[in-house]
Amino acid sequence: MSNTNTPSADSPSRCFDLHTHSLQSDGTLTPAELVTRAQAAGVDVLALTDHDVTDGIAEARATAASLDMRLIAGVEISVTWQGLTVHIVGLNIDIAGHALQQGLSRLREFRQWRAVEIGRRLQKKRIEGAYEGARRLAKGTIVSRTHFARFLVEQGYVRGMQQAFKQFLGSGKPGHVPGQWATLDEAVGWIRSAGGQAVVAHPARYKLSAGKVLRLFGDFRECGGEAIEVISGSHTPEANRHFARVAAEQDFLASAGSDYHGPEKTWMDLGRLPALPEDCVPVWRDWKMAGPVTSQAVAGSLS
Ligand code: AMP
Ligand code: MN
Ligand code: MN
Ligand code: MN
Repeated sequence: MSNTNTPSADSPSRCFDLHTHSLQSDGTLTPAELVTRAQAAGVDVLALTDHDVTDGIAEARATAASLDMRLIAGVEISVTWQGLTVHIVGLNIDIAGHALQQGLSRLREFRQWRAVEIGRRLQKKRIEGAYEGARRLAKGTIVSRTHFARFLVEQGYVRGMQQAFKQFLGSGKPGHVPGQWATLDEAVGWIRSAGGQAVVAHPARYKLSAGKVLRLFGDFRECGGEAIEVISGSHTPEANRHFARVAAEQDFLASAGSDYHGPEKTWMDLGRLPALPEDCVPVWRDWKMAGPVTSQAVAGSLS
């Protein structure tokens, strides 16, 4: 199999997008709309990776089956590693996995407590009804800082999402509530116990020193992690190249995903990712791709 993630005339390889969100977390499209849009954009293999929840997978899978497209069951797990929030994507998970669902449920309880606490802290800054507003904008079970940011924009407290994070929701700002998400070991363990592969999401986003990145990757490998998301819609081209090199040097599999949250972010669409560099081994190397796409795909037996 070719190791590119974009199809070309001389290659039958498929277009992969292995990191996307629906309104079950902080995206704005329904799972069905997301899959339909991905297909129209030329994506052949799509992973739905909502934050700390898998509620959108069944709908996404049913839509993908009707469109003859492959849907990879995924999740993006919030992790606290050395005091930093890091995101670990799980791909090809069995969403019935007990340990995984128990773990995600615990994270959602923390999320809910945190959402109320964010509301309380914003109220001290004379912002009324933030929790209720964020809850109203959230269409699934989880309330994310993204929903608070949308509320702050909607109510005119800030001009845009970036400013909402910069002024209120980012680390060290009045509406930021520190706390403990999953440990790295837990997140990777839950993914593996559900038959999935663990991927460090968008490594350039953490703004770590070179040494600290290697410590994160080293700890991740010790926990059983296999892949790095070297191509991300939230990376610069230089970051893509840098992490492709690191993944190749360190013998990690390489993943690629847009981190699509909805059509509002027009600069980051589905299926528009650059190809994986030739020296990367794709995370999908051993995935079984042949045969009809069915809604019955389960971890470890994709065809
Ligand atoms: P949470 O998991 O609730 O803490 O929210 C994290 C989410 O907020 C991320 O997944 C992003 O979608 C979003 N986010 C974080 N930082 C920013 C930012 N500076 N601008 C816009 N969205 C952001
Ligand atoms: Mn998000
Ligand atoms: Mn993320
Ligand atoms: Mn994401």
